[in-house]
Amino acid sequence: MKDIIIAIDGYSSSGKSTMARQLAAAIGYAYIDSGAMYRAVTLHAMRQGMISPDGTLDTQALTRALPHIAIDFRVPQGETASHTYLNDTDVEQEIRTMAVSAHVSPVAAVPDVRHALTEMMRRYGLRRRIVMDGRDIGTTVFPDAEMKIFVDASPQERARRRHAELIAKGNTDTSYEEVLQNIRQRDHIDRTRSESPLRQAPDAIILNNDNLTPDAQAAWLLEKYRQIADA
Ligand code: C5P
Repeated sequence: MKDIIIAIDGYSSSGKSTMARQLAAAIGYAYIDSGAMYRAVTLHAMRQGMISPDGTLDTQALTRALPHIAIDFRVPQGETASHTYLNDTDVEQEIRTMAVSAHVSPVAAVPDVRHALTEMMRRYGLRRRIVMDGRDIGTTVFPDAEMKIFVDASPQERARRRHAELIAKGNTDTSYEEVLQNIRQRDHIDRTRSESPLRQAPDAIILNNDNLTPDAQAAWLLEKYRQIADA
């Protein structure tokens, strides 16, 4: 089996992270959640007052702060999954809140932010053997990835899943409509930004998982991996 890079791109809440995490565990690869990195930068900007109450982002202040933002992934003691750390603090819970979701796409549209994070991401892939999920992994971060998947699912199905996830985590304040609106808004910003917009790489394999069970999806991915790494 060859050591490869697996890029999984697609829309918000399309189930990319779950499938990427599972695949990585099944084949002994590292899993890198690039969305978590954009979320961590957003949390930093929020904490430092770089985002005003009306949502305006102080792009210059954020650009100046970038060299001082350290992001990494660690498995905390007693846990099995890795958590996102921002300047040595575990921020895994906070980066998943609706507040961060509401501000992350404008932050991720800032070219300096994208350049800094793309560089960080490429370092993870130096020895290949990674599964990375995001929006531009197969197009910009690793255009030479051996396996590229583009995940598609309807906004309604994605909102339904994300809403169920929030409820399961005890967040009952957010309605399905709010989640759907946030998903549509992020899709729009991600697709139309000038710097590496969300789009399918020409050599990506499309996976529409509207009607796929998680097990069927995992088996499909494993099969694709075997075909590609064995070739
Ligand atoms: O994957 P997740 O929904 O956690 O990503 C959060 C946000 O980060 C996305 O809505 C998108 O704006 C941004 N993102 C990006 N490029 C990536 C990963 C995420 O622009 N590679």
